[in-house]
Amino acid sequence: MSATIGTDEHIHYRTCHLCEAMCGVEIRVRDKEILSIRGDERDAFSRGHICPKALALKDVHEDPDRLRKPVLRTASGWEEISWNEACDEVAKRLVDIQQRHGNDAVASYIGNPQVHSFAGLLGGAKFLRALRSRNRYSATSVDQLPHHFVAYFLYGHQLMIPIPDLDRTRFLLVIGGNPVVSNGSLMSAPDVARRLKDLRARGGRLVVVDPRRTETAEIADTHLFVKPGTDALLLLAMLQVIFEEGLVAPGALADRLDGLAEVRELCRPHSPESVAAATGIDPHKVRELARDFARAETAVCYGRMGVSTQQFGALCQWLIQLLNIVTGNLDQPGGAMFTRPAFDILGLAAGFGQRGSFDKRRTRVRGLPEFGSEFPVSALAEEILTPGKGQIRALVTAAGNPVLSTPNGRRLEEALPGLEFMVSVDFYINETTRHAHLILPPTYALERDHFDLIFHVLAIRNTVRYSTPLFEKAESALHDWQIFERLISSLAKHDPSRKPGFFKGWVDRWLTPRRSVALGIRLGGRGAGWNPFSRGLTLGRVLESKHGIDLGPLEPCLPARLQTPNQRIKLVPVPLVADLERLHNHFKTDTAESDTDLLLIGRRDPRTNNSWLHNAKRFVKGPERCTLLMHPGDAARRQLRNGDLAAVNSRTGKVEIPVEVTEEMMPGVVSIPHGWGHHRPGLQLRIATQHAGVSVNDLTDETFIDSLSGNSALNGVAVRVSALAAHQSA
Ligand code: SF4
Repeated sequence: MSATIGTDEHIHYRTCHLCEAMCGVEIRVRDKEILSIRGDERDAFSRGHICPKALALKDVHEDPDRLRKPVLRTASGWEEISWNEACDEVAKRLVDIQQRHGNDAVASYIGNPQVHSFAGLLGGAKFLRALRSRNRYSATSVDQLPHHFVAYFLYGHQLMIPIPDLDRTRFLLVIGGNPVVSNGSLMSAPDVARRLKDLRARGGRLVVVDPRRTETAEIADTHLFVKPGTDALLLLAMLQVIFEEGLVAPGALADRLDGLAEVRELCRPHSPESVAAATGIDPHKVRELARDFARAETAVCYGRMGVSTQQFGALCQWLIQLLNIVTGNLDQPGGAMFTRPAFDILGLAAGFGQRGSFDKRRTRVRGLPEFGSEFPVSALAEEILTPGKGQIRALVTAAGNPVLSTPNGRRLEEALPGLEFMVSVDFYINETTRHAHLILPPTYALERDHFDLIFHVLAIRNTVRYSTPLFEKAESALHDWQIFERLISSLAKHDPSRKPGFFKGWVDRWLTPRRSVALGIRLGGRGAGWNPFSRGLTLGRVLESKHGIDLGPLEPCLPARLQTPNQRIKLVPVPLVADLERLHNHFKTDTAESDTDLLLIGRRDPRTNNSWLHNAKRFVKGPERCTLLMHPGDAARRQLRNGDLAAVNSRTGKVEIPVEVTEEMMPGVVSIPHGWGHHRPGLQLRIATQHAGVSVNDLTDETFIDSLSGNSALNGVAVRVSALAAHQSA
C-alpha cells in the first residue's frame, strides 16, 4: 500500500514480518532507497508501536551478503548458476537418492522464518507433499510443540491455542516468558510493555515466575524465582490449593468438562510445602498466588519458552490450561480466549479433517514419536549419522539454521558433511547452509506480498491486514513459493509418477498464494462467501483499508469452536496423566546436582530475533551481548568477576564466554542467549562474524528432551562453569 508524497518520494504501509507482533510500519522511500521506517499510527492492531528491530527491514533488504542468485558449492568456492540448472540439479539428485534408498531417505527441516512468509508456507507445504518423505523436521520441536500437543488433546486441534486476553485481564501470571522483549509469542501483542502498564493502571496485577528477573519481571507487581524445570510442580501445587480451599469455579464451561474430580485427585499429593524444596518457592507465596489467581475478577496464566522448552514442557502447558479452566477463565473476556481470524486456517483445516496427529510413527534410531507429521528435531543428527535402512542421505532446509538453533548443534554440524546431497532455500550462507551443495535464495519480504496466516490465529485481538510489495523483484529473482513450484515441476520431470493430473495441475497453477488468501478470507466466518451482495470480508475490502481492519476483541466461542468429539473437554488425557509418573520419579530420585553444577537457561534480546539479524551493524554494535549471566554468589565461588572469560562445560560441549555478574539471576542458574556462534569457517556474513559470540546449542543436549511431546529441553541444562583468563577489565 503506497501513497505518493512528492515527485520521487512515497510512503509505503505494511506489516513488519520480523516477529509475531505484526506491527504496522510506515516506510518512506525515494526511488529504491528506504529513507525511514516508523510505526504506522493508524495501524488497526499496533497503533504506531514498533521496536528497534523494524529497522532490520532496510538492513536485510540492502545487505550485500544476501544472495540474489542460486549458488553451487564447487572446489573453488560458491558459483552462481541459473535457476533452471539449479532446480534441475536438485530434483535430479533428490529423485536419484529416493529411488535408491526410499522416499524417507530425503529429510526436510523448515525454520522459523518460514512461518513469517505465508506464500513460503503454502508453497513449502505443496513441495513437501511432492517430496513424499515422512522424514520431516522443523523449529516447532525446539519451540512450541508442547502448546500444540496440549491443544490437540484438550481442544481437538493442534492450532487451537488459547490466547491471553491481555487488554482486559485483571491478573496476568507469566511463567517462563518475557513478552516485554518478545512482544508476545503465541500471543501476538505489539507494545506489550504499554499493555502491561495499562493492566496495572486499571488495578490489575502482573506476576512473573522465572529463574531470571527479566525485563517483564522488572515491571511486575511480584516476581518469584523458580528453579528451572520445576514449574510443573509449582502448577500442581497451585491447583492443589485451589481444590483444597474450594476455589474451583469453572463457570460456563462446567457442563462441558470431563475429569474434574480426577484432576483434584492428581493434584492432592502436591501441597506447596511438598514441592518447595524442588521449586525453591516459599509455600506461603504459592498459596497466596493460587488464592489471588482464583479470586481475581478475571485471570490468565501464560507460559512460554521457559516452560515449553524443558523436560516437562507438555505437562506444564497442560497444567496451565487446567489452571485457567478450573478458575473459570477459559473462553471468558480477561481470561484465555480463542481468536476468530478473517482467514480461519484452523476451521479450514478442521473442515478437511486435519486436526493434528500424535505417535503415528516413531523415529528409526531413538523411537521418538511423531507429532503433526513431524519428528522431533533432536533426532535429526542421529538419523543422518546412524547407518542402516532408513538412514537420511539428503536434506532440504528452508529458512532455517538448525546448527545454531537445535540442541547439540555441533553433532548436527558433524553430520551434515556426510550427506550425499543437501539443498537450502535461504538467502544467507550461514552455519547450516554452508554445508549445502546448492543454495536457492528467495526474494526478501519487501519484494513480496505479506499476510499473517498463522499469527492472526494467535493474536490478542482480531484484526486483518494484507501488505503488497514495496519493491518490484528483479526479473531474475524468484519468491520462495516460486522456488518451490519450480522444484515441484523439476521433481515431476525426473520422476513422471509425480506429475499431477490435468485438473490438479490446473488448480495448483491457478491457486497462487494471493488467490489462496482471497479464498480463505471469502470463505472464513467473516467472509462474503459467494454472495455478491454480502457486506462480508473479501481480500479486495482488506486491500482497500491500507492500515488494516479491526475486527474487535476476542469473543467467547465455546463449545461451538471445540474440535473434540461431542464438543467436550477431556481434562485428563491419557498420555498427560501417564506422564505425571515421570515427573514424580524424576523428583523422587536424588537429582541434586553436584556443588559445581549450575543450570543453564536461555534468554531473548530486544535487538535480535533468535539467530536472525546478527548481520546488521546497528543490532550487534555496543557492549557484547552474548554473555553468561551469573549470580554474584556463584561468580564469587568461582573467582569470576564482571567481564572475565569463563569456560562453560556440559555433557555435549564447551564454550568460552564473558561473564556478566548480576543479581537478576537466581543463584544456581546461568543464562546464555541463543543464535550466536558465528565463528564457523565459510560463512558469508561479514558483520555477524565480527561479533561471533558462542552458540548455546553447543552446550544443549539432544538427549535432554520432553520425552512426551518430543520437544527439546533447552532450559535446565546442567553445566559447569570455571574461570579462564581475565577477558577485559570490568
Ligand atoms: S515488535 Fe516485531 S513486528 Fe513489531 S516492529 Fe518489532 S520486530 Fe517488527
